[in-house]
Parts: sequence; C-alpha cells; structure tokens
Amino acid sequence: MSLSTIAKVLAGAAVGAQALAYAFNAGEELLRPPGARSEEDFQARCVRCGKCIEACPHESIFAIQSFVSPSAGTPAIDARAKACRMCHDVPCVPVCPTGALRDVEVPEDIDMGWAVIDRETCISFKGLRCEVCYRACPLIDEAITIDYRINENDPLHSVFAPIINEETCTGCGLCVERCITDEPAIRIVREGWPIHENEEEGWVPTPRENLSGPSGEGVWQ
Ligand code: SF4
Ligand code: SF4
Ligand code: SF4
Repeated sequence: MSLSTIAKVLAGAAVGAQALAYAFNAGEELLRPPGARSEEDFQARCVRCGKCIEACPHESIFAIQSFVSPSAGTPAIDARAKACRMCHDVPCVPVCPTGALRDVEVPEDIDMGWAVIDRETCISFKGLRCEVCYRACPLIDEAITIDYRINENDPLHSVFAPIINEETCTGCGLCVERCITDEPAIRIVREGWPIHENEEEGWVPTPRENLSGPSGEGVWQ
C-alpha cells in the first residue's frame, strides 16, 4: 500500500471517528436551538437550511457534521463550547421556514431543557464557595438560587449550594459553559434524554420526576 493510500485510510478513519462522536453526541449531549419541540417533531420538520445558524449573532448554533447520523446537517448547540445567549428577540426562531423552531417570542419562552447539578463533583457541595453558575445565569435568582446551609459534618464550612428551579430554567446552558470543573458539574437534560447518574451505572434514562426532590436524594438534583 502506498504512503498516500495509507494517509487516505487514516484520514478516513479520523473522519469516521469524528462522525461517530457527533452521532453519539447528537442524541445525548447536544442541545437543539430554542423553539424545538420533541426530537421526533424536530427531525420531521427541519430541512437543514441553516437559516437559524445564520441568524444566531453569537455563533452558538452549528450544523452537526456526520456521515452516519440521521442528525447530520441539523442545527445543534454545545453548551460547554458556546451556550445560547438568550437573545432578547430570539432571532433564530422566526427565520425557521418550517416551524421546526416555533412559539418562542421572548427569552422566557425558551425551553431547551433544564439544568441538573452533580452534587458529587460540584465544589459548592464540598463546602467551597463558587457560585459561578449562579452568576452566569441570565435568570439569576429565578432559574437558579443559592441555598445557604450549615454543614452538619463540618462546623468550619457552610454550604452555598446552587439550586435549579426547573420550571423557570430555560436550558440555555450558560451555567454549563462557565462551570469551573474540568468535567462540568452542571449539565442540561430534557425529556427523553438519558443522563449520567454515576460512573458505575453508566447512562440510564431518567424521567423528569426522578431528577429532583426536596431531600436531594441521588447524585443529581
Ligand atoms: S437565542 Fe440568540 S444566542 Fe440563543 S440560539 Fe437563538 S440566536 Fe443564538
Ligand atoms: S431554520 Fe429551521 S429548518 Fe432551517 S436548519 Fe434551522 S431548524 Fe432546520
Ligand atoms: S441553563 Fe443554567 S444559566 Fe440557563 S437559565 Fe438554566 S440555570 Fe440559568
């Protein structure tokens, strides 16, 4: 095999790996732009025209690159890389010609999911004061608040815990983008998406009603 052929094979393998990564992410890590309904509804309506991508002034939306995923060419947002800025006029929605994005006129209408916090890795739950996600939130004190608690096991450190109000959280992902831990301790989930409960159990589908609870049971709030 010639050197050029080997180079082409390696390049093809790299593209394939990237495509698979995107295909994986398309179902589990990426967000749809504001105004998308269920994934089924979105896939049926989106004609991959890219108008929402052009309309986004922050370049938060990109087209999924893949040779294998049915999501190829559809728009997505990677909150960790560049979250939605919740523009006051939400310009990505009215340009959609097919209604794949619809019924969002003001930022508060946005419902891309809701944030969940990993209490095992969020440093606020370890007694350190962070509040970066709290201060990054466009809906500070509405979508996210700080719960001050005495740490019963540690009289020297109190806990300033971020708490999500999933009814008002828009899932914009700015908290995810700004989270200071290497692997973000906060992420966005939405109906029908799997979430990572812990390393041992892997990815499991978790209904919305099981994600929160006044006692904070489980890893995710
Ligand atoms: S609301 Fe603004 S920042 Fe968010 S995706 Fe739409 S155009 Fe981009
Ligand atoms: S504007 Fe609508 S149809 Fe066009 S790519 Fe965006 S979501 Fe799909
Ligand atoms: S996703 Fe994060 S930053 Fe956006 S509204 Fe919800 S808590 Fe606030």
